[in-house]
Amino acid sequence: MVAPSFSFDLQARQGKARAGCFHTPHGDLLTPVFAPVGTQATVKSLTPQHLEEIGASLVLSNTYHLFLRPGADLVAEMGGLHSFMQWPHPILTDSGGFQVFSLSETRKIDADGVTFKSHIDGSTQRLTPEISIQVQEKLGADIIMAFDECAPPYDLAYNERAMQRTHAWAERCLQAHTRPDQALFGIVQGGIFPELRKRSAETIASLSFPGHAIGGLSVGENKTEMHATIEVVNAILPEDKPRYLMGVGTPEDLINGIARGIDIFDCVLPTRLARHHAAMTRTGRLNLMNTANTHDQRPIDETCSCYTCRTFTRAYLRHLIVAKEMLSATLVSIHNLFTLLEIARGARQAILAGRFEDFAQSCLSPTKGVSP
Ligand SMILES: [Zn+2]
Repeated sequence: MVAPSFSFDLQARQGKARAGCFHTPHGDLLTPVFAPVGTQATVKSLTPQHLEEIGASLVLSNTYHLFLRPGADLVAEMGGLHSFMQWPHPILTDSGGFQVFSLSETRKIDADGVTFKSHIDGSTQRLTPEISIQVQEKLGADIIMAFDECAPPYDLAYNERAMQRTHAWAERCLQAHTRPDQALFGIVQGGIFPELRKRSAETIASLSFPGHAIGGLSVGENKTEMHATIEVVNAILPEDKPRYLMGVGTPEDLINGIARGIDIFDCVLPTRLARHHAAMTRTGRLNLMNTANTHDQRPIDETCSCYTCRTFTRAYLRHLIVAKEMLSATLVSIHNLFTLLEIARGARQAILAGRFEDFAQSCLSPTKGVSP
């Protein structure tokens, strides 16, 4: 069901890079956009106020985790995810498929769905396309995802089977979807195999999804394979609907994805790295634990205008980390997410101004940014 409250305006194009606006019931997403991941209905160590201050517009939450705990019924009883987590802006939920295949040790896949053991208490659980959509309707995100199967990228036979299942499940998700205030996106699979990706993109594009996603990347393939796959798929996906590259989010991945026509990104990496004392910059990672930072009066990145870089020295951040203070995760998460949000915003401005190539080059240049 394509809801009237969703539409995508393509505002500018430069090469394959696009700037657009996706209208949702909880606000407009100006694309390209990066979505911080709030796995358990929270972006770890940050409040919604922090997220607003760094200019986040879209937050992703994981259906698998919320399905197991606290359960979709409780979230619905509390007014849905926007109300439960107090994020009044757009939210995206994934389908649970990726986590079932990556987190659950024992799982049994059949044509109808997947039976698996909860990683929390070992209980037997089941997700089907219909259950995933019902759960996502109870959670109430603006963008929800079709239930898919993500196969290991290099296994041709498995990718063929998983792709066929993903296509059958995509149609069942469309049938099961009832809420007009949610946009259901279809997912292209097919590993690193161009023929499979081509067939998958054609099949998913032929269905009536208001947006499309590329799944099964950033799961072990190399960058050349990732870029080639994006190019094969985006040559087929329609121009007039948003394209979401799932689970991809380093500074160079964003630039390379945007250059190939991606509009939406998400990744746990910025917040996960922050909890492991690593700051992301446009030119690489900075390990704040390093003793070289002990007396360093500089911010993480002298070119960054985030709260952390405006306020704190590397020496202070290193002290917090050594002392195992919780604030370190918060401050480094603010910086890491801000870095990716700024790249998406900068790319958008550059596309609108017709200077994306210069912007991309300046972002990827090894001479600019942070000294090690
Ligand atoms: Zn910063």
